Amino acid sequence: MMDQKKCTLAKGFSIYEKLYAQVSFFAFSIIGFYGIYIEDWRWSLGYLIIFTSVPLIVQRHLVCPRCPHLYEYGDCLQLHPGLTRLLIKKQKTSPLNRIEKSVWLLIFILLPFFPIYWLSSHKELLIAFLLACGIWYGGQFFYFCRRCRVSSCPMNLTPYRR
Ligand code: SF4
Repeated sequence: MMDQKKCTLAKGFSIYEKLYAQVSFFAFSIIGFYGIYIEDWRWSLGYLIIFTSVPLIVQRHLVCPRCPHLYEYGDCLQLHPGLTRLLIKKQKTSPLNRIEKSVWLLIFILLPFFPIYWLSSHKELLIAFLLACGIWYGGQFFYFCRRCRVSSCPMNLTPYRR
């Protein structure tokens, strides 16, 4: 029973899945940054720090060091696998602990909510930002996280979640 179920989990990712995840992620990040920058460049530095915490904290220390997609299947959804490997400090087998999960959650809550205040002065930018956010977070929640092999990721929605 267990083995049959495992086959629903993703191994690598198709070019379409990667384009979907990467284009939507970079789209909302760039729109968010630009929307803050044109209002107050000083706060855009804050968003830049939040954005860079994805490769420098999430990918380097939290989720990617524990990713079977990368280590067992040599693939990555969000970046070229070679680049992801360069980012990772060292491979890990232990599940994320409570502090790591809280840091992860904080980053993925700040990413979509931080720019809203400044974007609210620019309706078109706000709509484009929310659309791109909806595409990325919706794709994660309704598709990728239901097939993900990173069992201790806080967003994992498979029966194997740890
Ligand atoms: S968790 Fe895996 S698939 Fe996701 S970005 Fe990291 S290495 Fe890539």
